[in-house]
Amino acid sequence: MRLHLQLEEAKHRAESAADAKSAFLANMSHEIRTPMNAILGFTELLLDTTLTESQRRHLSTVRSSARSLLGLLNDILDTAKLDKGAMTLEDADFSLRCVCEQAIASLGLLAQRKGLRLHLDYPADQPEHFRGDALRVQQVLLNLVGNAIKFTERGEVTLRMRWEQGRVHLSIIDTGIGIAADRLDRIFEAFAQADASTTRRFGGTGLGLALVKQLADLHGGSVSLVSEPGRGSTFTVYLPAHAHDARA
Ligand code: ADP
Repeated sequence: MRLHLQLEEAKHRAESAADAKSAFLANMSHEIRTPMNAILGFTELLLDTTLTESQRRHLSTVRSSARSLLGLLNDILDTAKLDKGAMTLEDADFSLRCVCEQAIASLGLLAQRKGLRLHLDYPADQPEHFRGDALRVQQVLLNLVGNAIKFTERGEVTLRMRWEQGRVHLSIIDTGIGIAADRLDRIFEAFAQADASTTRRFGGTGLGLALVKQLADLHGGSVSLVSEPGRGSTFTVYLPAHAHDARA
């Protein structure tokens, strides 16, 4: 009986420590986000003024650093929200084709700078209009396409959409470094990275894929991964969806 009580107490302590950690992360992220928005906003304003070439270059670096920091903070906030079960999804009509096109367009420059081909494979006969949370779907795509570009040195990245058996299949296919077989099943856990050298070489937090998986789960969907070191990876997100214009 005493052992039982001790266990209960230890469990309780561990749970409140985990809650405190989540709350701390969320509060910190909020506190940092406000000044970050000011830095970003005023940098944009300055960039609209007359500047020398090198001032413009330096400010552009400030802007892109501020943007990536803001992206990181948003990831932390989303993780905390998902952990608490406090994330709710929109349920509205949206064009999946537009969401895919926007994801490709916003990462186009990044791919181009690395000399990678980035394309969308969304055949004209596939349904376009769905109900769901367009922003969250876009967040999933940006994460996966962003990773594909980050971990690919040469070749191409493809975003492929197919509607099969009442589900949307969104595959992100790259010709990059791939992931070793023994890392495949842990890669969707928060803070997991392929290995320590990945962190040194590419940076990152290991939050992206955990978010992708949690968001897919929240949609009632799932994510799968096929990868071979040196050959590339294919991440597929399955989303149960009602297509308005599906023939099925
Ligand atoms: P981050 O990119 O911030 O490290 P993620 O959760 O997005 O975090 O990814 C976790 C890890 O999974 C990465 O560090 C990398 O080792 C591996 N990974 C993700 N996507 C790919 C990919 N397309 N190709 C190879 N490795 C990948």
